[in-house]
Amino acid sequence: MSLEISLQSDQRFRALIEHSSDAISLLTPEGTVTYASPSTRRVTGYSAEELVGRNGFTLLHPEDLEDVRQQFTGILDQPGHSITVEGRFRHADGTWRWVEATLTNLLADPAVGAVVCNYRDITQRKQGQERLLQSEERYRMLVEQAAVGMFVTDLQGHLVEVNEVGCQLCGYAREALLIMHIQDLIPEEDRADVRVEIERLRAGETTRSQWYMKRKDGSLLPVGTTANQLSTGNLLVIARDISDRIQAEQARQQLLAYERAARAEAEATRARLYEFLHQAPMRIMALRGPEHRVEFANTQVLQIERYADRVGKPFREGWPEFVEQGILAILDEIYITGTPFTGTEVPLKVDRKGDGVPEEAYFNLVYQPLRNAQGDIDGLLLSAIEVTEQVQARRRVEELNRQLEAEKDALRQAEQEAQARASELTAIFEAMTEGVIVCDARGEIRYTNPAYRSLLALDEDADSSVLQIDRRFEWLALRDLEGRPLPKEQLATLRVLRGERLSGIHTVDHLCHTYKGEDLILNANGAPIRDATGQIVGGVVVFRDVTERRRLGQQLHSSERKFRSLVESNILGVVVADVEGRIYEVNERVAQMVGYSKDELLSRTFNWQQLVPPDAHEAQAQMTKTLLSTGVVPPQEGEYLRKDGSRLPVLAAATLLDQERRLGLGVILDISDRKAAERRKQEFLSMVSHELRTPLTSIMGFIDLALLCSDLFPRPLSPEAEKLMGKMETGLKRAMRQVEIETRLVEELLEVTRLEMHKFELSLQPENLVTIVQETVANQQQAARTRQIELVLPPDEVVPVLADAGRVGQALTNYLVNALKYAPLDQVVLVHLVVEASSARVSVRDQGPGLTAEQQQRVWERFYQVAAPGRQGPDGGLGLGLAIARAIVEQHQGQVGVESAPGQGSTFWFTLPLAAGLIQA
Ligand code: ADP
Repeated sequence: MSLEISLQSDQRFRALIEHSSDAISLLTPEGTVTYASPSTRRVTGYSAEELVGRNGFTLLHPEDLEDVRQQFTGILDQPGHSITVEGRFRHADGTWRWVEATLTNLLADPAVGAVVCNYRDITQRKQGQERLLQSEERYRMLVEQAAVGMFVTDLQGHLVEVNEVGCQLCGYAREALLIMHIQDLIPEEDRADVRVEIERLRAGETTRSQWYMKRKDGSLLPVGTTANQLSTGNLLVIARDISDRIQAEQARQQLLAYERAARAEAEATRARLYEFLHQAPMRIMALRGPEHRVEFANTQVLQIERYADRVGKPFREGWPEFVEQGILAILDEIYITGTPFTGTEVPLKVDRKGDGVPEEAYFNLVYQPLRNAQGDIDGLLLSAIEVTEQVQARRRVEELNRQLEAEKDALRQAEQEAQARASELTAIFEAMTEGVIVCDARGEIRYTNPAYRSLLALDEDADSSVLQIDRRFEWLALRDLEGRPLPKEQLATLRVLRGERLSGIHTVDHLCHTYKGEDLILNANGAPIRDATGQIVGGVVVFRDVTERRRLGQQLHSSERKFRSLVESNILGVVVADVEGRIYEVNERVAQMVGYSKDELLSRTFNWQQLVPPDAHEAQAQMTKTLLSTGVVPPQEGEYLRKDGSRLPVLAAATLLDQERRLGLGVILDISDRKAAERRKQEFLSMVSHELRTPLTSIMGFIDLALLCSDLFPRPLSPEAEKLMGKMETGLKRAMRQVEIETRLVEELLEVTRLEMHKFELSLQPENLVTIVQETVANQQQAARTRQIELVLPPDEVVPVLADAGRVGQALTNYLVNALKYAPLDQVVLVHLVVEASSARVSVRDQGPGLTAEQQQRVWERFYQVAAPGRQGPDGGLGLGLAIARAIVEQHQGQVGVESAPGQGSTFWFTLPLAAGLIQA
């Protein structure tokens, strides 16, 4: 039954629950839903089935969870206890819903055994509450947060209400204020005003005023107030802190003060600037407007008196002289373009003295535009610094520099020239044949040229110490020309260093040694070298080897002496005459020789020609020609006519003294004594040879006879007799040859004698030279059968000559005999006859030893023989053959000669003039 009751009651209960507007759930102490009433769907959106088995806490808002859980846990040990909690619950649609729940602990109730949770959605209520709270809040904030203090008083002025800002403004706490009178917040002196103001407010006025609020800390706060009467009858005073505004005002005042001060300062600055501009060491002008009216000009400008009245005038009128110098154009330009102008050292003509005479001046110019507040150009500021002095000074410096440069250039050039001259000098020194030394002030040699070194036989690489002055003096062994030693001071270098100039007549000749010890005569020229102050710093000495000149001089001197003594001794005749025969000088000897007095000879009317015998005129003319062309006439024998008509044999020679005046010096030797002696000798010779020839002829006759006899001797003979006879014949023949030689020698002697005694008679006949040559060659061939003589004749069969055939044959014989004698036996002797233009030429060529040039000259002399071993032919000889041949040929107006060289054989030749047409073939 109890179950039924219980069931019935349960059903009722259930019906009650199920129709309740609240949702009901049963929860375990852990919060798990064991039952949910159908109305839970309305509140939570979940069906009862969906909720059962879930933990109710999981649906709570995290912010509310802890609070709710605590309260829930709080009732768990209080059976029957019930609490109401609020919290947010997540609706099935996802929104949060405010829920108010009443939790009742019925765990101990066996019929329930759970915590009964009775809950409803209070979201709407919650939101209304919220809105109310919010509007309240807004109001509160309005009052509190308004930046104004609000004071409410009763009609007597006792404070009844005040907001937070009001408290802050005066620094009192609200409670303190609410027992205070409004005038406690005002300084004593203003309180009367407060009372007046209250009266006005009670009369319904709205007041606006400014006060100083006396704060709790005693400080005064400026406030602006607006006040009126509220409908409640109380008075509302709204106070704003106006200390900012006051401060701003104060700041404004201060700024104003500053501005005034600044203005004053600016004024002062302007004054100073003005002063500065005035005093500035430059010209400053301020111009205004497009006309450039002069607004300001500083002292520098104005100190030029006439300029003072130009201020205020347009630039054009004030400074016309600058207008024409282009300044106005510049000003216009700046005024239009705003581009400043700067000019450095601009030349300007300035009429400084006002006398109309412009002076050249230079300025550094700076012209700038002046702008007004809007930035537009309304004027110009001109500044000019005069730099005339600087420019002039600089020009002077530049000029000086230029001069300096020019001087430097000149110096450089001089240096270069000096250098060039030095190298020129060195080159000259090097090329000079005179020895040059340059020495320093102590006499030590600094330079020697090659000629000096070769002069003194110094090797190219000789140790320079040998030139050291003491050593030099040692080996030089200085002496005068007589060989007496000289002291060291006489060294040319030392003399020069003492300031002597060795030149002209002051040059010195010294005898000295070369380094190799040979004697040398040196002529020294020299001069000291001085520096700019005239101090001697060295010397230069030029040495010339005058050994030869000296020697020649000495020779000349002695030969002149000899000559003089000769002239004066009157052994030789000496005459000076021109080629026309006029005598200028003559010595006593000549006068003696020719039998005229010296005066006669020197008289204008006398001519040398008078002394020349007629047959010698031609020879004399020839001599004059030779003298003029060669300058000398070698000694020649001749004859002069004496005053008494007799002839004087002389040996005369001449030299040309003066080419221009054709003046000659003649030396005459009287050889009449010698001639007489010669004649005697010739006579003796002729006599001797004649005497010799006679016996020779007879000897030859006897030998011939003896040979003939031996031939005629009856034969046969006994062998002994035959042998003896043979020996005799040989001896006779040898004797015959000797005699023949002797005869020829004697012949030659005779021949020469005749030649010299002018007894050489020729019988000239027209002859055929071919025949003469052929016969002569044949004869020689006959005499020397073993020898080979080759004859070459011209094509002409006849070569006509006017000749003594025997003599010409003799001349050719002499040539042939020599050729056969001196040439090797096996060599051919070649005889040539050739016809030339006007002469015939006969030559004999041999392959003998040949002759030197000197020998070729001398072989024609009488008795000359080349002295050489093996030269002598088998028959000896006297050295007369060629002399005779020459005499013969020359008597035929022909010439002789020889072409030869040692080892090359010789060709002796002679020519004879052709005698054309004289002989018929
Ligand atoms: P000699 O009687 O000595 O031959 P010459 O007057 O004929 O006298 O000659 C003079 C000298 O000339 C000779 O002694 C000889 O030395 C030299 N001589 C002449 N002819 C020749 C020649 N053909 N070759 C070389 N030497 C010659």
